[in-house]
Amino acid sequence: WKRFFPDVAVTPKAPFIEVTHVDYPDRFDVIVIGGGHAGTEAALAAARTGAKTLLLTHNIETLGQMSCNPAIGGIGKSHLVKEIDALGGAMALATDKGGIQFRTLNARKGPAVRATRAQADRVLYKAAIRHTLEHQPNLSLFQQAASDLIVEGDDVKGVVTQAGIRFHSTSVVLCTGTFLGGMIHIGLEHYRGGRAGDPSAIALAERLRELPFNVARLKTGTPPRLDARSIDFSKLAVQPGDTPVPVMSFLGNREMHPRQVNCYIAHTNERTHDIIRNNLDRSPMYSGVIEGVGPRYCPSIEDKIHRFADKNSHQVFIEPEGLDTPELYPNGISTSLPFDVQLDLVRSMEGLENAHILRPGYAIEYDFFDPRDLHHTLETRFMNNLFFAGQINGTTGYEEAAAQGLLAGLNAARRAKGLDGWYPRRDEAYIGVMVDDLIRMGTREPYRMFTSRAEYRLLLREDNADLRLTEKGRELGLVDDERYAAFSAKVDAIDAETTRLKSTWVLPGSELAAHFGDKLEGMSREQNMLDLLRRPEIDYRDLPQGDDAVAEDVIEQVQIQAKYEGYIARQQNEIERLRRHEDTKLPADLDYERIDGLSKEISQKLMEARPETLAEAGRISGVTPAAVSLLLVYLKKRE
Ligand code: FAD
Repeated sequence: WKRFFPDVAVTPKAPFIEVTHVDYPDRFDVIVIGGGHAGTEAALAAARTGAKTLLLTHNIETLGQMSCNPAIGGIGKSHLVKEIDALGGAMALATDKGGIQFRTLNARKGPAVRATRAQADRVLYKAAIRHTLEHQPNLSLFQQAASDLIVEGDDVKGVVTQAGIRFHSTSVVLCTGTFLGGMIHIGLEHYRGGRAGDPSAIALAERLRELPFNVARLKTGTPPRLDARSIDFSKLAVQPGDTPVPVMSFLGNREMHPRQVNCYIAHTNERTHDIIRNNLDRSPMYSGVIEGVGPRYCPSIEDKIHRFADKNSHQVFIEPEGLDTPELYPNGISTSLPFDVQLDLVRSMEGLENAHILRPGYAIEYDFFDPRDLHHTLETRFMNNLFFAGQINGTTGYEEAAAQGLLAGLNAARRAKGLDGWYPRRDEAYIGVMVDDLIRMGTREPYRMFTSRAEYRLLLREDNADLRLTEKGRELGLVDDERYAAFSAKVDAIDAETTRLKSTWVLPGSELAAHFGDKLEGMSREQNMLDLLRRPEIDYRDLPQGDDAVAEDVIEQVQIQAKYEGYIARQQNEIERLRRHEDTKLPADLDYERIDGLSKEISQKLMEARPETLAEAGRISGVTPAAVSLLLVYLKKRE
């Protein structure tokens, strides 16, 4: 750890304030600290399973607040949102209630990488989350900063608040986001804060540094916000949402959506880049004031100018923050340069010449914990009954945080009931991929989800998240009756339609064949409609319809399952083959460099990681299924 972060900054000591402790009379099964995206899903998940839960947060008004752009989803991320939804979580439905522009990304590519992205009205989104929290049985809210944990031996037994109130519980989930030791930077000025307008959590950060966790610093940034009344939209390209408007939740529908609006596109230019280059010495990142590592895939504008020096223009998406506010989010110019430089660089762009900045951009540095110190259930290895979820585990993004929150909340509740923990495997969910990545490899920069992180992309599509997870969610107590009834009806409808297609036979030259026009030219034998649907040139809409109307989401499943059946079966076979051998032990002294066919890179990774079983070897990033087969052959030969 120290190898990666040799110069870990130490959080300054908070002033010592003497407080008188008071014990809260009720005991909880689970206490969640932090009402951001991880904390809200954690509290909801715990409460849904029947655990008596307390959500303790700095400020009830900021429950579900989006610290950066009010946008949910995108490539890899909407897969997580739909998985959270399939397990009964709140994020997707809140997006349907707050989304003011929806788009399907990668629409022309295969279903594995297709993704839904929504721009949300931040006030409507927050209101939807708060409403869900306030109507969740078994869940209580409490506004106060948590400043300490109640620890007995290696067990965590509750939380102490800033005012000295001691809440006792069986488990605690920590979801404090960017707030632990948060330090905000604007140019060379810096001050403590959890995000703009909110205090950082200093006392708790200090306390956690006394416990045996590996702590380091990361950073993230946000752009200045602009006033729409000062923008000349006639000079910007319009980016409308999709029609028909996509929906995020499996229980959602278009009627839930508020009014839909356009986004716009502006561009940086040579002058913008000159302004930035000429002021890099006033940037806290380039002058060495910030030590934390930032998100590689969400770089600041100063990073982009520096790293892509040959580009003379970058796109800036001008996205509304809500329906009832002139505030705009210029996506693509996250910066921690001083305010005067921010104003100059914004005003150098066409259409933004008279822009008024409503809030300056800034960077924030914060404490995070090495996720390799966690179990897959997100319980810490050093302290029993303590779970970590969200940005404190080194991730970035609302979706990544919410997904971890759901998992940690569930497992904290299961711990309180004396049940075993649960987590999805890599071949079951992106949640499984993320948690496994974090726990096995840790992270040296803010971790965000991409479809490329998953080995079995065709199985882990966003469209089938419910088919993958809702049944399991029901078993775990996460899925309520309404969701389960809708899910069961969908499964029945998919079965019924698949059966209809399979049992409807088309004879060459028949009346039914004529229905397909010249698409069946050259057909020589009778085929059923499901087989015909497998042909690339035939779409579901080409098939003669049955008596009953079939819902859009059912058609989508029938079509994808038919068209990709071969590829899906191949991935499933691969998973099963690996699973059959997953308990095969790998000798501790195995010399991987002597195994024929293994690349140097893979054998080095195996030497370093020394996996105990074949399955563990297969989960190491970069170790391919082909390499696992070679290991299997080698072990068989040795026997
Ligand atoms: P948060 O949303 O930060 O929520 C933490 C919650 O815990 C807050 O409600 C806080 O009040 C509460 N809390 C903290 N400490 C205590 C305490 N001691 N007692 C009680 N309550 C406490 N993500 C991206 O994907 N892309 C970006 O470009 C991006 N830019 C960002 C820029 C900035 C400036 C910031 C601040 C965040 C940015 N993010 C970005 C990250 C995104 O906001 C987070 O990943 C996400 O909000 C993390 O969710 P969370 O639940 O872990 O924490």
